[in-house]
Amino acid sequence: MRQSQLFPKTKREDPKGAESINHKLLVRAGYIDQLMAGSWTLLPLGWRVVNKINQIIREEINAVGGQELLMPLLHPKTVWDETGRWDKAKAVMYQFKDSRNKEYALSFTHEEIVMDLLRKNITSYIDLPVYVYHFSTKFRNEPRARSGIIRGREFMMKDLYSAHVSEEDLMEYYEKVKGAYIKIFTRLGFHFRVVETSGGVFTDKCTHEFQVPNAGGEDTYYYCDRCEWAQNKEIFTGKAGDKCPVCKTGEILVEQNAVEVGNIFPLGKWYAEKMQVFYTDRDGKKQPVWFGSYGIGPTRVLGALVEVSHDDRGIIWFPQVAPFAVHLIQIKSQKSKVKSIAEDIYRKLSDAGIEVLWDDREVGAGEKFADCDLIGIPVRLVVSKVTGEKIEWKSRTNDQIELLDIGQVIERLRKNAV
Ligand code: ATP
Ligand code: MG
Repeated sequence: MRQSQLFPKTKREDPKGAESINHKLLVRAGYIDQLMAGSWTLLPLGWRVVNKINQIIREEINAVGGQELLMPLLHPKTVWDETGRWDKAKAVMYQFKDSRNKEYALSFTHEEIVMDLLRKNITSYIDLPVYVYHFSTKFRNEPRARSGIIRGREFMMKDLYSAHVSEEDLMEYYEKVKGAYIKIFTRLGFHFRVVETSGGVFTDKCTHEFQVPNAGGEDTYYYCDRCEWAQNKEIFTGKAGDKCPVCKTGEILVEQNAVEVGNIFPLGKWYAEKMQVFYTDRDGKKQPVWFGSYGIGPTRVLGALVEVSHDDRGIIWFPQVAPFAVHLIQIKSQKSKVKSIAEDIYRKLSDAGIEVLWDDREVGAGEKFADCDLIGIPVRLVVSKVTGEKIEWKSRTNDQIELLDIGQVIERLRKNAV
């Protein structure tokens, strides 16, 4: 991609009223644009990052048997009345009437929709289990949408739903998905904790959240340094400094602010009983389906990645989610053929399957370097009148410069990619 053609240009100033780091940096660097509170456009750079995040999620969800589909976002009131959530979740749902006075809601989640799909398509135990998921927009009437793209009123979610013949089968799969989530958040580059919490408007059972420690995060949990134990403030009844309830060594609990990036729910048979989703078991008896749901917010992940990986000059992407693998810069020079050398490198890298953002603009080196640090691509390559046949390689995370030839650059980028 030629930077001269990239839409839009970077901005020097923080957006007005921005409080969080992800809001400031993602807007300035040209990844996102705000339409109104909690509503964002993913610009070309932002969309590239979200697609990388989604691909990591997709691979791991497919690996636990998930089948991708796409469900509608406009839902009739009738289906939400079946579980009583039209009333119970009123505060969070966007509900409205059309011109014929029929009532609808915009999707804030999809349990009821999946249940409707299942009852039309499941008859016997042979048809179970079912694992389906989609990436789509969710709408939630969030009272405070101040954390940049971390809290949208319209945002992207990957939601997986599973249906089972028994509680045992559900809980076995629940643990499998927990494992897949651990792989996903590890691959995304996060330090995180699996935290026990309540089920909100979804279930009375305990659920598990995936929390990324961050001082600006809106969640608070308590954890033990020695063992895995961690509980959200929502259900924790003690205080920081208390002894760990499971550790034999009497370790002390610590308070931590965090961003919730994922949440898994073992919902049980409540939904099936409400919505009449039955299957026939081996003895010919009708049984309710056991149900689970599992969410990750890719647009929230985008914001959380920036919160945990940046410096005072800009974003620092982990290679696996960066919009491009390298940022190629040519330094303007009157006499030399620097631009044609850069173009040749751009072509060779692209032919080798490497994603390159090439700063081909006719602007000064200072502006190019500042944009490069702001945009945050992991590797900077520079050609100038002094580099000759070589290319200057610099990582976004340090100031050490190395002179390499094109073959070495390609080899190194290929190694990084694995
Ligand atoms: P929160 O407590 O932060 O409001 P939640 O617990 O209501 O979130 P879930 O219903 O568990 O959210 O949704 C699953 C995932 O969707 C969350 O873990 C998060 O990654 C993402 N998500 C939820 N709400 C938002 C939002 N308003 N904006 C962006 N992503 C969100
Ligand atoms: Mg949650």
